[in-house]
Amino acid sequence: MFTVGSRTASRAVCTTNGSQLLRRSTLQALAASNRARLLSTETRASAGSKGSSGNNSNNEVLKSGAIATDLDPENKTVSIEHKSQRFNIGDAFTNDSEPIETTLHYDYLVYAVGATVNTFGIPGIYEHASFLKEANDATAVRQKLFNQIEASRLLPKDSEDRKRLLSFVVCGGGPTGVELAAEIKDYIFQDLCKFIPGIENEMSVTLIEAQHNVLSMFHPRLIEYTKDVFKQQGLNLQTDTMVKKIDDKNVYATYRHPNGKTEDVVIPYGTLVWAGGNAQRELTKKLASKIVEQQTARRGLLVDDYLRLDGGDQIYALGDCTFTQNPPTAQVAHQQGVFLAEHFNKQSKIEDLKYEIDSTTEEAKLNKLNQRLKRLEKKDKPFEYIHQGALAYIGSERAVADLSWGDWSTVALGGTMTFFFWRSAYVTMLLGIRNKIFVVSDWLKVAIFGRDCSQE
Ligand SMILES: Cc1cc2nc3c(=O)[nH]c(=O)nc-3n(C[C@H](O)[C@H](O)[C@H](O)COP(=O)(O)OP(=O)(O)OC[C@H]3O[C@@H](n4cnc5c(N)ncnc54)[C@H](O)[C@@H]3O)c2cc1C
Repeated sequence: MFTVGSRTASRAVCTTNGSQLLRRSTLQALAASNRARLLSTETRASAGSKGSSGNNSNNEVLKSGAIATDLDPENKTVSIEHKSQRFNIGDAFTNDSEPIETTLHYDYLVYAVGATVNTFGIPGIYEHASFLKEANDATAVRQKLFNQIEASRLLPKDSEDRKRLLSFVVCGGGPTGVELAAEIKDYIFQDLCKFIPGIENEMSVTLIEAQHNVLSMFHPRLIEYTKDVFKQQGLNLQTDTMVKKIDDKNVYATYRHPNGKTEDVVIPYGTLVWAGGNAQRELTKKLASKIVEQQTARRGLLVDDYLRLDGGDQIYALGDCTFTQNPPTAQVAHQQGVFLAEHFNKQSKIEDLKYEIDSTTEEAKLNKLNQRLKRLEKKDKPFEYIHQGALAYIGSERAVADLSWGDWSTVALGGTMTFFFWRSAYVTMLLGIRNKIFVVSDWLKVAIFGRDCSQE
């Protein structure tokens, strides 16, 4: 069994209790990024520790830092490239700085490579904007912010360029954009101002959104609450503003007035982050192009109710790389991962039972086994997403929460108590005690000493 990607969805597949097929199989997980590498190590540990027979963990091969470059669904192979200097395949060990390329065979493929950033083909985004997708992106944004602040200090106070350099613009009013804008505003007002006095009066944070509202998936009351909090914080919210083009200094957009008239606007920026949603990765497009049933898959891979790739032989796809009726969130990806592990487990039991039925001649026993088989097959139900709610941090120790208990009850909350609820929910959802301790100790550090304001 081969999993491509080893973060949210893949990790849930690999670490869910009782994944018997995984226990019996050689599990190979490809993890492209550093962040994934961390998780891969844990994946190996937990998958190994849950193995039923002693030597199963030896079978598990993890290729951290390896990137899948191509897939051949017909011949069931994955081409991989590894750029790091140390690489292990079975007993062979290579120590070479050249990228290593190899092709591996799979029986089952779990495809969960996530998604990339959607730029909607808007010119200038790739060249000038920063993104917030991988852990490294956050460091890059922080570095850019510091560089712009430093540069602005060389210019006179009334200079337009100084004002521009101190303007932080976020495009995209979904949870990522809202949380980033709120965090940046907090950072400036709560911490940076202690190191650079007066910066809070000069810096501006602007959130641009094409639709009429930010956080459009939240209850209307919470949307209004978020707008109010942003207003109190002095965060510029520019809704109904569709970005058309970006150059090295400005965002060019069209603002739609309430009466429907449009106006061209230019928004200068020093730091710009694009948080415009998801698009398919190149590898996903490549895979889709090789399968007839995926030719219409524009927004993600098409899967059935058991997460089997339409037209793929023994390929399962889940998480952000797929297009289903569910939103592209960690909540969905995690539930899909757990579902898949349980599905494999049930399938494994079904296979065992079928084998037993084939080799049984005694009628009474055969009837019993057939009944058991029917029960098991009935239990192997399609994936059903259970929405547990949505949470977002909106700044100044306030959060919004749209919570649901089954289909019958929803609660919309906003405020400081919700912020504490958001934090506890966040910690609960983190995978592994190690991550929980790291995150809580980070929060404590920030609460006592403030955020780190030193330049890397
Ligand atoms: C800033 C931000 C905040 C978010 N906050 C929330 C939140 O609060 N709640 C929530 O529910 N969702 C949140 N999301 C969405 C959530 O992160 C995703 O929906 C979820 O991670 C999707 O899981 P996945 O396993 O499909 O993909 P990912 O978690 O993205 O994992 C994909 C993995 O595949 C690896 N990979 C990619 N290409 C290759 C390749 N060619 N070969 C090998 N490996 C590869 C990647 O490196 C990565 O490790 C947030 C997203 C962002 C960007």
